[in-house]
Amino acid sequence: MASCLFCDIAAGEIPATQVHADEDFVAFRDIDPKAPTHVLVIPRRHVTGLDRLGDDDVDLVGRLLVTATRIASAEGLTGGYRFVINCGDDGGQTVHHLHLHILGGRAMKWPPG
Ligand code: 5GP
Ligand code: ZN
Repeated sequence: MASCLFCDIAAGEIPATQVHADEDFVAFRDIDPKAPTHVLVIPRRHVTGLDRLGDDDVDLVGRLLVTATRIASAEGLTGGYRFVINCGDDGGQTVHHLHLHILGGRAMKWPPG
């Protein structure tokens, strides 16, 4: 597999401000935050994106969401937050390792750009 930025961050080979780590997931602050709180949650396993998930990944995705809600809570986002998963070019995905954005600390607008 070609090198992957988020695999390298999960392995600790590229520095990031980590806010959570467990056996399956790592979360760290986005380098270019779009909100006062902007955390990325990734599975340690390299999965390119939502469009590459299969039936075997249902548990992984469920736990990704639940893990993210716990991180949002730990970040003190009591007023609410937004989860975003961009997929593919039209979805605005720039890093091809599945990641969930936690955005919070301000009121979000709708629709997104
Ligand atoms: P995407 O556009 O693929 O949904 O999101 C990729 C995110 O990764 C962007 O919000 C971008 O700011 C963030 N990002 C890109 N490179 C790095 C990096 O080296 N470190 C961290 N912490 N975030 C990064
Ligand atoms: Zn990767």
